[in-house]
Amino acid sequence: MPVERTEHRGAPELHKYYEVYETIGSGGFAKVKLGRHILTGEKVAIKIMNKKDLGNDLPRVKVEIDAMKNLSHQHICRLYHVIETSTQIFMVLEYCPGGELFDYIIAKDRLSEQETRVFFRQIVSALAYVHSQGYAHRDLKPENLLIDEDHNLKLIDFGLCAKPKGGLGYELMTCCGSPAYAAPELIQGKAYIGSEADVWSMGVLLFALLCGYLPFDDDNCVVLYRKISRGRYDNPQWLSPGSTLLLNQMMQVDPKRRLTVRQLLDHPWVMRDYNSPVEWCSRKPLYHIDEDCITEMAVNMKRSRESTTALVKEWKYDQTTATYLLLLSKKHKGKPVRLWPEPAVCDDSPLHQGLQTRGTLHFTDDEDAIIVGSLDFCSDYIDDCPWVSPQYTPQRVRGRPDEVKNKETRYVSPSLDKRHACSPIAERGKTTTPHHQRRREKDQEQAAENKENIAEDKGLEIFALPPPRTPASTKKSSRPNKNVLTTPNQNANSNVNKPTVATPKVGGDSAPKEQYKKKAAESKESANMEILAFSPERRSRSLDMAVVEDSGKKKRTGKMFGSLERGLDKVITMLTPSKRRAHRGGPRKIKAQYNVTLTSQTNPDQVLNQILSILPTKNIDFTQKGYTLKCQTWGDFGKVTLAFELEVCMLQRPEVVGVRRQRLKGDSWLYKHLVEDILATSSI
Ligand code: ADP
Repeated sequence: MPVERTEHRGAPELHKYYEVYETIGSGGFAKVKLGRHILTGEKVAIKIMNKKDLGNDLPRVKVEIDAMKNLSHQHICRLYHVIETSTQIFMVLEYCPGGELFDYIIAKDRLSEQETRVFFRQIVSALAYVHSQGYAHRDLKPENLLIDEDHNLKLIDFGLCAKPKGGLGYELMTCCGSPAYAAPELIQGKAYIGSEADVWSMGVLLFALLCGYLPFDDDNCVVLYRKISRGRYDNPQWLSPGSTLLLNQMMQVDPKRRLTVRQLLDHPWVMRDYNSPVEWCSRKPLYHIDEDCITEMAVNMKRSRESTTALVKEWKYDQTTATYLLLLSKKHKGKPVRLWPEPAVCDDSPLHQGLQTRGTLHFTDDEDAIIVGSLDFCSDYIDDCPWVSPQYTPQRVRGRPDEVKNKETRYVSPSLDKRHACSPIAERGKTTTPHHQRRREKDQEQAAENKENIAEDKGLEIFALPPPRTPASTKKSSRPNKNVLTTPNQNANSNVNKPTVATPKVGGDSAPKEQYKKKAAESKESANMEILAFSPERRSRSLDMAVVEDSGKKKRTGKMFGSLERGLDKVITMLTPSKRRAHRGGPRKIKAQYNVTLTSQTNPDQVLNQILSILPTKNIDFTQKGYTLKCQTWGDFGKVTLAFELEVCMLQRPEVVGVRRQRLKGDSWLYKHLVEDILATSSI
């Protein structure tokens, strides 16, 4: 299906400054896409929200934006730019390619105490800072911690945060967040102190990291609440005495007996192997002005440094703020503090446009808009690009930017300059060197491929993909039978929890022990990586819980989670989400990644057919393109409850078939259980 280029019709301001790529995640209301800030060349995440869909939750977005504007910390995802139109809100954020901590835990089963400590110190650091700024996060869970390119955590989702007017010591009333992580005082509807409730959630999170499942868990909401209120949970035997003690100190029912974040900073368990307290002060203080970034921007804008500084200091979260913060990020990463060259053809540089075009814009509802080129390619391009390479010394007049002539400020890489070309792909590569020729060819190839990705991406919503090549394409719809996943809790029992493989079901409080036994058995096999069959044991549930805000408004639904289980692959390599592409000659050959499940089989068609035969039995809609299956489940009101991809691929070492899985939408735990179920039932 041809890709509709709707950028000018859809969100002109967004596409003026950013290239927009595939969807990388979606939450309650937002769709998040990968993007690239044209002027700096940096990757970003673009959170897209439709105002219509937000409805009464619009204030939640405002809360999130306000909080993120006030928070700048090494373990908090940075907000760069906010674009609001009559129909949409775009939040441009720091891009975290490592995915959610949730996925990392389930892929690893559980983390060692050492690895947990590394992550936990970062969580404590972020929370100590958040609290120091007068905020309580109130929705701490592994889905809201992302992993960046350096394998560090970044906290996201401040939509439920609170900043009590009288300070954090003031009591709050709103019951919000995810039930499994909620403190007893919160679920009991009592007034509570935000920072104390956060410490409880951090305790639950710490338990999830160390154990791979939740301390308080039940299909039944009332039972779950009772468990939380009592604060009793089982400590699995693999926990060290130090871990057991710390968990106990954090998950104290009486909030006054709970540890404080301040006490966590130099807690013996936290300090172990480090011998130093957690460093919580921001290494990226707000309102800091970096002279190198200012100089670069001043040159680009042909302004004085003083007026550029004044402009940046307005902190409008517009193109100026984004450019400044992204330049600063480049500097922190050791990249040259450089912007794209001055425009040779188009005189309206993106930065200038940002400064000059601030009128109200009215957009259509289209948010999927356009994809230009391939980002992976672009990043290669950038690395190779002379003016971004560290060795490159631009032949450029520094000093007083106002005196710099246009010619002198122009770099010599027109093929890279998006502003040369109002249509970047079409116009790129006007130079004639073999290098550029090769680049241009690669560019065109990548553009074509990227179109394919977009088509796929759009296909996710509309399920109208072109017919596949090999193997034959199938589109199965099981929508008439919509029972599956409609009431997630019931679904969990009726569909997801009923694998065709007859195996004992692990449930209740004995689950962890059972799982542990199984784990011990599995670990014997772990040297033999090829054989990593799925655990047929599973419990799946996700119960939507409507929570009521102080105002009486219905808030975003929370989630209740099932326990984590083992049986997923053990090969952990944090990689950027791989490109989704169906290959003509057969399945893709990929390296083992944490989101790839290894099978014991060597015939990809057989694996594909096995999965294909299982999907309809689970009431899962799917569209096939080559070896990639785009799957969806539907709720009662025709809403997509889960969307995910399964791709049959070939692993290189060991040479077996793998199944790459990626969640695109919906509850993480429900997704995990469903995919486990599919793969276990497929007996691959
Ligand atoms: P919502 O507010 O609707 O819950 P989130 O902010 O939680 O949406 O984002 C939804 C998902 O998108 C996240 O769980 C994550 O997988 C992905 N995501 C969000 N922000 C980023 C980011 N900065 N980098 C990479 N992925 C992101």
